Amino acid sequence: MSPDVPPALSVVVPAFDEAEVLPEFARRLRPVLDELTGQGLDGYEVLVVDDGSTDATPVVLARLRRDWPQLRVVRLRANAGHQAALSAGLARARGRDGVVTMDADLQDPPEVLPRLLAAGAAHDVVYAVREDRSVDSALKRVTAAAFYRLVRALGGRAPEQAGDYRYTGRVVVDTVLQLPEAHRVLRLVIPDLGFTSTTVGYVRGARGAGRTKYPLTRMLRLSLDAITGSSTAPLRLASLFGLGGALLTSLLLLYALVSFAVGSTVPGWTSTLAVVAGAGTLQLLCLGVLGEYVGRLYVQLQNRPTYLVAADSLEDGQTRT
Ligand code: UDP
Ligand code: MG
Repeated sequence: MSPDVPPALSVVVPAFDEAEVLPEFARRLRPVLDELTGQGLDGYEVLVVDDGSTDATPVVLARLRRDWPQLRVVRLRANAGHQAALSAGLARARGRDGVVTMDADLQDPPEVLPRLLAAGAAHDVVYAVREDRSVDSALKRVTAAAFYRLVRALGGRAPEQAGDYRYTGRVVVDTVLQLPEAHRVLRLVIPDLGFTSTTVGYVRGARGAGRTKYPLTRMLRLSLDAITGSSTAPLRLASLFGLGGALLTSLLLLYALVSFAVGSTVPGWTSTLAVVAGAGTLQLLCLGVLGEYVGRLYVQLQNRPTYLVAADSLEDGQTRT
């Protein structure tokens, strides 16, 4: 394949300080892709996004590239984070048919890739879902489960147990790249777009080498991005508190007035209470109103398509071949 003809498939791999595992990663991924090529895949590229690594990752990648022409490397100037690295990779992936995203640490086994592609022939998106993640720590599993429950409760559409190992067809990649969101969490944005999708189960591997790059603080940040990205419900909380406050204050005021009427109170208590409670409630209600408008602005800015026409819908006068 000549270098100026884009390959059919891109494999996008964010890697942050993964020097220890990358040689083994390449050793396992390459035969899978070469075999697919033998079976008719019209060219592939592996695009590793070096997310500002400070270890020997750049050296290791340069060495691997020497005898693997399909390996491309994009190096980010500084560590931008997993999701940003994925976005950088998607923006540069040349795959004509689609893109597979996967971690560099072999927790996403390369051997699952052919099944993703096979399912991708009939679907826009194929999620690899972890059927067994006993290799992950209990803390990771519990926090992940809580996280997805919360996201779904807030109206997000994340498929259960899906990480960022997935196939996305070209049209999905192009749609995602048009979204102006800065902190998009791809695994939540993509399901929200309404493309056809399916899942392929796999057993989560153990990390090949090195340590996790997702300490608790990073997981928290991802969760915040995910929650604020998939819902404006937190903004509505102020209105709810305001309404609840109004109810409570009315009861309190009634009690204060009755106490005042029967003369069983210190002077000034009733009026102080009325002012404090009333002002607090009023403020929360006003914040809630602001929240509603800010929420709408935010959704407008995210600019996600509100609908997508199905691939098999027939437009006027058009025939499907
Ligand atoms: N990663 C990255 N930038 C970061 C953190 C992680 O590109 O700032 C990559 C990392 O190299 C790996 C993938 O994202 O390929 C998933 O990270 P990791 O395996 O550390 O997360 P875990 O599997 O522990 O959730
Ligand atoms: Mg990992």
